[in-house]
Amino acid sequence: MLHKSFTNEKIQSLVPLSNFTTWKIGGPAEWIGEPKGLNELLSLISWANKKRIPCQIIGAGSNILISDKGIKGLTICMRKMHGLTICKQTGLIEANCGEAIPNLARKAAKDGLHGLQWSVGIPGTVGGAITMNAGAQNGCIADRLISVKVLSLEESKTFELKKKELNFSYRQSLLQQEKLIVLSARFHLEPGHNPEQLIHETNQNLNHRLKTQPYHLPSCGSVFRNPKDLKVGQIIQELGLKGLREGNAEISSIHGNFIVNQGGATAKDISRLISIIQEKVQEKYGVLLQTEVKRLGFQSTN
Ligand SMILES: Cc1cc2nc3c(=O)[nH]c(=O)nc-3n(C[C@H](O)[C@H](O)[C@H](O)COP(=O)(O)OP(=O)(O)OC[C@H]3O[C@@H](n4cnc5c(N)ncnc54)[C@H](O)[C@@H]3O)c2cc1C
Repeated sequence: MLHKSFTNEKIQSLVPLSNFTTWKIGGPAEWIGEPKGLNELLSLISWANKKRIPCQIIGAGSNILISDKGIKGLTICMRKMHGLTICKQTGLIEANCGEAIPNLARKAAKDGLHGLQWSVGIPGTVGGAITMNAGAQNGCIADRLISVKVLSLEESKTFELKKKELNFSYRQSLLQQEKLIVLSARFHLEPGHNPEQLIHETNQNLNHRLKTQPYHLPSCGSVFRNPKDLKVGQIIQELGLKGLREGNAEISSIHGNFIVNQGGATAKDISRLISIIQEKVQEKYGVLLQTEVKRLGFQSTN
């Protein structure tokens, strides 16, 4: 049985991380904190530094596979650091890292700001979306980004990075390599559009996803990055792998690039399916698929 004790009211121990991921998978966090603002975040980091334990940042947990053994050290979940300021006239938006992307997309549409309608179905936070350069329908979060405010984990210093300094490419950014925490971001959207039209487009995008992707089951979205000129979902379908099961994890019969948790799946089940897909695709197409999802609590994150 898991033991849950409080060292102080902000830090808990041995909390199951399955409650912190959209896959509903993951062993316990040795320690976990959910800061509501910068001061709380800084005190969590300083607590971990004093104990000489590592810090692992997570957002809404919608693109991570956490090991069944959990994560050692302090896991810091950023989703409570939310907040949004929107200027309808100029289209400028300042969003805190924990703000939910669907919320940002809906509020922007309601205020007549064009440019994020595609993002409504992405169940992540602003910080996670920027780190992953989340995207869909030929758009990505970097398109409308001006700059981000970050905190360096090593020096506990905050500074601003402009979009061009973040080396964005397909589902990649500098933030995946550097020990930087995204605190907030500034976006510029096109002002003065018809809100009703934007809300309609936003709803249509979500409805399309609900029909074509398995939103009714726990997943992490697309597991693999699409290699150049190839669509992983299509390849997996052609290989007849849809519906393949390992324990309680299953390659979705609706979309081949999704692995769904049918209830009680483990990170081991998911990892096994990932390996099977990689082997079969390499055999037939000579391509080693790279995962988009980040592995935490394993030896390697990819
Ligand atoms: C049903 C479903 C549909 C999806 N559809 C899409 C899609 O269409 N397009 C797409 O690109 N993705 C999609 N995803 C994947 C996922 O939602 C995105 O990658 C999302 O942006 C991840 O954000 P998150 O807050 O959940 O990050 P997490 O999964 O919690 O973390 C992802 C990475 O970002 C880091 N991170 C998180 N927050 C911060 C921060 N504040 N500072 C620094 N690093 C941070 C973590 O350390 C980790 O390395 C989908 C997922 C699901 C479940």
